[in-house]
Amino acid sequence: VTRIALMTLGPVEPRVLRLMGETLESTFGAHILPLTALPDPAHAFDMGRAQYSSTVILRDVLGKKPPGAAKIVAITERDLFIPMLTFVFGQAQIDGAAAVVSLARLRTEYYGGEPDSALLVERALKEVVHETGHTFGLTHCHNTSCPMSLSNTVEQVDGKGKDLCVSCSLLLADRLRNPISKE
Ligand SMILES: [Zn+2]
Ligand SMILES: [Zn+2]
Repeated sequence: VTRIALMTLGPVEPRVLRLMGETLESTFGAHILPLTALPDPAHAFDMGRAQYSSTVILRDVLGKKPPGAAKIVAITERDLFIPMLTFVFGQAQIDGAAAVVSLARLRTEYYGGEPDSALLVERALKEVVHETGHTFGLTHCHNTSCPMSLSNTVEQVDGKGKDLCVSCSLLLADRLRNPISKE
C-alpha cells in the first residue's frame, strides 16, 4: 500500500488536517503517515511580495520525506506564490514525491466574508486531491467538475467536486499498478 507522509508548516487546525488525510487515504488507497508539525517556513518568505515561495517550500518538503513514504504532502496556512503568478493554491511535482497546499485563499475570510469552516474543508479536500494527484502523474483535466481541473480562482474550486472523474480514476489506477517516480 502507498504511504503518504502528511506534514504541516505552521499551525493548521487538527480537524482540517485529519479530514484531508482521510480523503487522501480513500482517494489514493493510501495510508497516511503523520509527521511532526514544522514551524512557519520563515526562510521561504519573500519580503517584496509578502508571500511564501512555493518552490522553496516544495524543495524543503521533499527533503523531509521519510524513506517509508512514497509521497509527502505539506499543508500550510501561508499564502504561496510562484514567480509568474499572483498566488497558487498549491504546487506539486508531476510524477514526483512532494506536494504543498495552502489554505490561505481557501478561507472565506480572505475575501472579506465570515469564516465558514465547512466550506474551508470542502475546498481543502479538493485542492489536496488535486496537488497529490499531480504526484501520481495526473495532469490537468478538462472536466470542470473533476478535482484535477485547474483552478485559478476560488469560484473554480467551488465549481468542482472532490471525487476524480472516470478518466482520472482510470489513469490513477494504472499509475498505482505501475508507479513511476522521478524523485
Ligand atoms: Zn494543478
Ligand atoms: Zn478528471
